Amino acid sequence: MKVLSRILISSLLVCSLLISAGCSTGTLFAAKPYKETQFLMDTIIEITAYGNNNEVAVKAAFDEFRRINGLTNKFDASSQVSKVNQAAGKEKVQVDPEVITMLKLARSRAEQLNGALDVSIGAITELWGVGHKGEFVPSQAAIEALLPLVNYELIEIDDKANTVFLPKLGMRIDLGAVAKGYANRKAIDALKARGIKSALVNAGGDVRIIGKRQDNQPWRIGVQDPRNSEGIAAKLAMTEWDVLETSGDYQRFFVKDGVRYSHIIDPRTGYQPRELASVTIVAKSDNYVDLLSTAMFVLGVEKGQQLLKQYPGTEAIFITTDGKKIVSPGLEGKIEF
Ligand code: AMP
Ligand code: MG
Repeated sequence: MKVLSRILISSLLVCSLLISAGCSTGTLFAAKPYKETQFLMDTIIEITAYGNNNEVAVKAAFDEFRRINGLTNKFDASSQVSKVNQAAGKEKVQVDPEVITMLKLARSRAEQLNGALDVSIGAITELWGVGHKGEFVPSQAAIEALLPLVNYELIEIDDKANTVFLPKLGMRIDLGAVAKGYANRKAIDALKARGIKSALVNAGGDVRIIGKRQDNQPWRIGVQDPRNSEGIAAKLAMTEWDVLETSGDYQRFFVKDGVRYSHIIDPRTGYQPRELASVTIVAKSDNYVDLLSTAMFVLGVEKGQQLLKQYPGTEAIFITTDGKKIVSPGLEGKIEF
């Protein structure tokens, strides 16, 4: 409960800061925004849209989050991801083509991301249960016993028959790092399909925008200070990008004996990476940066910076656990601290 309330408070704060930053200089003549907040996908999702039919469009965008959550929610025994997991080591399971798309997307990037992003990490994330099991630290033996089940190459995907098979008993997929960004892209599509030209969708750190604010200024977004839930570590105007994605150890975590344990796990060790408190990526939406941020959180500053070079136009803000802020060269002069 303590953990959940912490998640709620920190996410709510980001939302309100984002929106107030977005609206503070709005003109008197601007049309009224329609804004709605829902708790979905284990996080707080806030959508703001301007223009005709904005309420209908926002509701349609939430439908997309609900739909993707219905497919991927590992805490719902009837979701497709849960069915695949329950059938691990036994049989293949027919799934929606979108589940195949998400799995293939993650697999296609896994090698480039140095194995730091691995959707077969489910057995380990379930063991830790961060945000769901209280202050529980599993034994090293328990972690080591599950590590052989983490290997995305073992996932058998048949994209003609739309089936997925996890060949080892106990193997689990976890689409937590993929589904939110995927759903957010679909939500943006739903808004655009209804004629929306100005909107902001914040799904617990996965922020996407359409166009400019109603006053024709760029959306300005605050990056949360990972060690002060009421503070902003950096601000930037979304002039060249339409996605801002943060992975951080403050989004879902617990502290035990003075040590912070977050929801992002290094698939190679089964433990939390400790170099970064958060990493924020800004990019154009077609770059699939939501996968990047999780992987860069695992890889740290140096390897993260190298990886970034393979994504032209994509920039990053790293905040280390000892408080240093490092920005990629393309962001210099474009960011306020
Ligand atoms: P994000 O907040 O987008 O970085 O995604 C974090 C979520 O992805 C976690 O809550 C887990 O469900 C899952 N996850 C944690 N570590 C990894 C990892 N190394 N690779 C893939 N998924 C992960
Ligand atoms: Mg993500």
